[in-house]
Amino acid sequence: MSDSLFDQIIDSLEDYAIFTLDTEGKIHSWNANAEHMFGYAENDSIGKSVAMLFWLEDGSEKTLEEDLLLVAQNGREKSARWYRRKDGEKFWARDFLFPLTDEEGNVRGFTRGVRDLTEKRRYEEEQKALRKELATEKRKLVDVFERAPAFMAILRGKDHVFEMVNTAYYQLVGHRDIIGKSVREAIPEVSDQGYIELLNSVLATGKPFIGTEMKIGLQRIPDGIVEERYLNFVYEPLKDTKNKHIGIVAHGYDVTDQVFARHKVEQLALQVEQQARTFDVTLTALKDFVYTFDTAGRFTYANSSLLQLLGLTLDKIVGKTFHELPYPEELATILHTQIKQVVLTGKVVIDETSYTSPGGIDGYYEYIFVPVFDNDKKVILVAGSTRDITTRKQLESQKDDFMGIVSHELKTPVTSIKAFTQVLQKRFAKAGDERSALLLGKMDAQINKLTSLIGDLLDVTKIEGGQLQFNEDFFHFDELVNDAIEEIQRTTNKHTIEKQGTTQKIIYGDKDRIEQVMINLLSNAIKYSPRADTIIVKSSVEDDQVTFSVQDFGVGIPKERQQQVFERFYRVSGNETIPGIGLGLYISAEIMKRQRGTIGVVSEPGEGSTFFFSLPV
Ligand code: ADP
Repeated sequence: MSDSLFDQIIDSLEDYAIFTLDTEGKIHSWNANAEHMFGYAENDSIGKSVAMLFWLEDGSEKTLEEDLLLVAQNGREKSARWYRRKDGEKFWARDFLFPLTDEEGNVRGFTRGVRDLTEKRRYEEEQKALRKELATEKRKLVDVFERAPAFMAILRGKDHVFEMVNTAYYQLVGHRDIIGKSVREAIPEVSDQGYIELLNSVLATGKPFIGTEMKIGLQRIPDGIVEERYLNFVYEPLKDTKNKHIGIVAHGYDVTDQVFARHKVEQLALQVEQQARTFDVTLTALKDFVYTFDTAGRFTYANSSLLQLLGLTLDKIVGKTFHELPYPEELATILHTQIKQVVLTGKVVIDETSYTSPGGIDGYYEYIFVPVFDNDKKVILVAGSTRDITTRKQLESQKDDFMGIVSHELKTPVTSIKAFTQVLQKRFAKAGDERSALLLGKMDAQINKLTSLIGDLLDVTKIEGGQLQFNEDFFHFDELVNDAIEEIQRTTNKHTIEKQGTTQKIIYGDKDRIEQVMINLLSNAIKYSPRADTIIVKSSVEDDQVTFSVQDFGVGIPKERQQQVFERFYRVSGNETIPGIGLGLYISAEIMKRQRGTIGVVSEPGEGSTFFFSLPV
């Protein structure tokens, strides 16, 4: 082969710098690639030691001599090492070294080929770094996948083979061996629940499927029952680079607890509704009006009896106060204030009123407003009921009328009898018939009782008719107390009335009516303490008020009856042997009310009672 032909071959080995060396390592020939790779021109390199091409940093690398010796012995060598260009830049290269021998086999020189690997090496390093990054990313992804609160599964192929599932998925289906198995194999219980058909269709069409609160039966414990669960999930097709559907990603949430909780709430709501309907039907059947208010005094319910009376439907009344409904302004104000009072105090209000409905029905009604509390004892609404007491009122009024007439008619003859009795008593006394005079005196005392009874009946009639008259003037309070005590003391030998305190006050009011109250309290004290012999009367002044009290040591009144004794005709049971008709305290309370005073009692059964009243000075 001619030299020129050889040179051409060498030059054509594009990537290789090829040069020859003599046995001492001096460059003997230098090709175009070598010039290009190292930067030395041919005349710059020929005859120079090859050592100038090496990057010998720390001297640890093989020396040139060793290198050549090794090749001479072994025949060839391949290595990779750092080289150096003329401008001092180092580069990584792969090289080979061949010995050149003469016909006798003596080594006459060497051929070295050098391939610059800088680019390749960089590329490889980049690839390596990329692979590492990819691996990290993949790990991260798997981690996210694994730890995601949502369940996830990757299914491959037309049989939907589990390729990957996360912890949440295992929790959902129960821990079983599923990787590598088809859905049908891995979770056989879902085979006939329509899910495989869904997967098939997503795989075939490439259209994702979104399931909301879908029921699924899962055997989460081996050999256990098939449990009912509810899922929100998505089936998304998995595509390869050519957009072919190769699998499905299933991910979603187990929403069973929420669904069950909602079912429970719905069931409860249904129950409440049914209950409400039952109540409504029951309440509708009632003739009484039944209703509720919110704490602002707005109607929240009214039964049909009330709706009928008002001529309105429920939706027209709910949310409205009395002021916005057909009630006279004055009554609306009273009722509204009473509702507010129940909300504020948590106490029941009972009252009566007359009312004319929009349809012109006149009636008299008794109503009660009751607070409804929540667990913290806060009033959350007010319930009420109203009863039509027109008939009862009419009967009462007839009775009152009758009582009025009878007592009025009785008054005149009794007054005459009393006058005649007194005349007779005096005559007998004068005639010396002491015994008859005494009997007539007793008769007079009985007539007094009768008079006071008739007086009470008349007073009640007047109170009911709003005709109780008061003649007010200034009077000395202590004197009135003395008069009352004196009068009552005269009627009893058994009891001693002990007086304590004075007021030194002049009072403005109806002296006779106030004395009537004192006498009533005093005579009750005597009447209801048959086994005692002392009554204590106290007068005192405090905060511009005079207080008069009567204490006895008699039968007393149970706590729960103490307020009722001021009601009309009310008598505490157990006292039937003691005469009375239950009107005295009712009249006294009415008098006190009209005189801007208050009346009350403290009492202990078996120990006695203290009745008292206070009047403004
Ligand atoms: P009456 O004495 O005619 O029955 P009152 O209106 O004066 O009517 O009293 C109403 C009821 O209150 C009485 O029937 C009695 O049961 C009770 N009461 C009144 N005063 C006393 C008292 N001092 N001690 C015990 N009970 C009393």
